[in-house]
Amino acid sequence: MARATVLGRLTWRVATVAAVRDETPTARTIVLDVPGWPGHLAGQHVDVRLTAPDGYSTQRSYSVASAPRGDRLELTVESLPDGEVSPYLTRVLSVGDPLELRGPIGGWFVWRPEAPEPVQLVAGGSGAVPLMAMIRARTAGTAAPFRLLYSVRDPEAVLYRDELRGASEDGSGLDVTYAYTRRAPEGWPRPPGRVDAGLLAETAWAPELAPACYVCGPTGFVETVADLLVAAGHDPARIRTERFGPGGGRP
Ligand SMILES: Cc1cc2nc3c(=O)[nH]c(=O)nc-3n(C[C@H](O)[C@H](O)[C@H](O)COP(=O)(O)OP(=O)(O)OC[C@H]3O[C@@H](n4cnc5c(N)ncnc54)[C@H](O)[C@@H]3O)c2cc1C
Repeated sequence: MARATVLGRLTWRVATVAAVRDETPTARTIVLDVPGWPGHLAGQHVDVRLTAPDGYSTQRSYSVASAPRGDRLELTVESLPDGEVSPYLTRVLSVGDPLELRGPIGGWFVWRPEAPEPVQLVAGGSGAVPLMAMIRARTAGTAAPFRLLYSVRDPEAVLYRDELRGASEDGSGLDVTYAYTRRAPEGWPRPPGRVDAGLLAETAWAPELAPACYVCGPTGFVETVADLLVAAGHDPARIRTERFGPGGGRP
């Protein structure tokens, strides 16, 4: 990789908040203008750095939710009740504010629109964010059919609900299955519960189709789902995972 490219990714840039959008009662999308943004691939993330007036500084990683498009990026942040950074990003940061970030980061958990094989996405909670970038990166010419299995606490916690409904109804080859862990909508065909082997067998691409699998969410969720996929016969080399952090706040 060219040295200039690496240095570009490690350089902190000052973005400006162009808009904010509440996705759920606890999650917010932050739209950022990032002058000189080098571009990203669906699935990559950025590091965000906050610095207090006394010089104390801390940083966290956030996946890019938007498809690659010019100098504009979208992040979606789920606020953790005791969190140091996420409550600030979701409740305090406002339009016009500066935000320091660097990236794009990550070369493995990425999807390229020219890849022809079927894609199996499995999201736990806010793990839907980088998978949404992949869904958004599909273009008219994309051959790969997508399936998303989205494990989420309850119907109110679903990110991008309307957009996902639109994308799954427009004939572009996206199929979405929700797995509610705590409370399902009235009349839902399955009782609330975690993703298990039966649900995967029923809703995911069969291993024989050799799909590219992307699993993202809290660490415990990702490890469980990756193990289930391997046990079902999926090639471990085709399973790409991204862990967002501790098992707490599991979907
Ligand atoms: C590559 C990568 C991409 C990520 N992308 C996103 C994203 O797109 N959207 C998003 O909302 N978050 C994302 N995260 C998680 C994010 O980096 C922070 O960990 C999260 O926002 C919590 O930070 P905090 O400062 O609010 O909480 P902290 O002050 O760090 O932690 C507060 C409490 O929450 C627990 N905790 C920390 N992280 C998590 C977590 N992820 N899940 C459950 N409990 C946790 C801690 O153990 C602690 O008890 C990503 C993480 C990684 C590694």
